[in-house]
Amino acid sequence: MQRQTQQRVAIESAFVAAGRPLGPQEILDAAREQVPSLNLATVYRTLKRMIEDKAIHPVELPGESARYELQSAAEHHHHHFRCGECDAVYDLEGCVEGLHKLLPAGFLMTGHDIVLYGSCAACGTSL
Ligand SMILES: [Zn+2]
Ligand SMILES: [Zn+2]
Repeated sequence: MQRQTQQRVAIESAFVAAGRPLGPQEILDAAREQVPSLNLATVYRTLKRMIEDKAIHPVELPGESARYELQSAAEHHHHHFRCGECDAVYDLEGCVEGLHKLLPAGFLMTGHDIVLYGSCAACGTSL
């Protein structure tokens, strides 16, 4: 396998294994198990190419550096949970009904984004 392909495969399988949005450092830590020579510069380069290919999608949380998720995950409507203990971001299934009730008269909503904050199960039980 080509070096570049091998790196990309390792990064893709890191996303699949995690099942949640990952930042560059998290990707590096996970993908290094398959490709020990991987470094952060390579991760950034590969992520850039994967964005261009629409294989991954950036997840932007207010005031945070970007994380990424697979395009297949991004295509269904979902929201995110950010753990304040370990900084991990998780996907949430489902949505909230009745958001339009928050709108003042005459306002039109074209989209929404919801982020929940707290501690994840792994961190909550270790406190
Ligand atoms: Zn956590
Ligand atoms: Zn929603």
